Amino acid sequence: MKLHLNQSVWEVTEPTSLITLQVFITNRCNKMCKDCFYESRLGHGDMPMTVYMSLIDDSLKRFPDIGKVILLGGEPTLHPHLPEMLSYNIQKALKTTIYTNGARLDTLQHIDPIYVSVRIGVLGLTHGEKNLMEIKPTNIETGIVYMLRNDNIDELMDAAYYAEKHFNCRYFMISSIRAIQATGDFWKDTDDTVSMDRYVSVVQDFMENYQGNLNIHIARRGILEGQHHIHHCRFLNVYPDQQVTLCPFDISKGIIDHPKYLGRTCNKHSECLLQKLIYIKK
Ligand code: SF4
Repeated sequence: MKLHLNQSVWEVTEPTSLITLQVFITNRCNKMCKDCFYESRLGHGDMPMTVYMSLIDDSLKRFPDIGKVILLGGEPTLHPHLPEMLSYNIQKALKTTIYTNGARLDTLQHIDPIYVSVRIGVLGLTHGEKNLMEIKPTNIETGIVYMLRNDNIDELMDAAYYAEKHFNCRYFMISSIRAIQATGDFWKDTDDTVSMDRYVSVVQDFMENYQGNLNIHIARRGILEGQHHIHHCRFLNVYPDQQVTLCPFDISKGIIDHPKYLGRTCNKHSECLLQKLIYIKK
């Protein structure tokens, strides 16, 4: 399906496909979100700093083209050695994104925005287990990812305006929860998840009516058409115990892969489900 947008208002681009190392540096979290894709591993355990350093070194040797490291969990700001991990990545000339629920955003005041970016995932504006209004705004530059569920569609537009007004928000991204732990299948819905058809109409409606100035990123979710077609896995998801899963949609299924299979052909769809569209206001 295709989004039909006013081309005199929006310019669309798509990101290039980078090899991305996603390191789950802790299993601990300060939230309990329904349908969390990491639910089966949540609990105790941090990745030790020595393990983190060898992971970075080994990954760079094996995949010199790594373009980005994403630190997540659990809640990555709970890791006591997060600052050292960021410094280590800078030493290795790696850009880092911290994917957080925002509850401890204030602990990230001292990051260097040239090398480190912050992405906040939310499940609503005023309600939901992690909602935007409960996050104390700071001047840290952030991207805000709004994960659509059936219970938060009505707050989507207001959340985008709130993000622009109260945060130093670089982009607002729309994606959706897929309850794979419950359904075992990316394409199946529960009462909570937004069906693919509805996802397209919610996004279309948002883009037609949004009057703000943020850049809008849209997850294609295997249903929205784009110009780029990525057919291979480019994510290495590594857990505190150093086990690896290639596809983020296999994390909640407990599937363990070997890093050497990075680059394998997509086994979920005709192309990767993790592509996105970037809309920039002209
Ligand atoms: S959606 Fe397909 S290509 Fe993308 S990470 Fe998963 S299996 Fe790999």
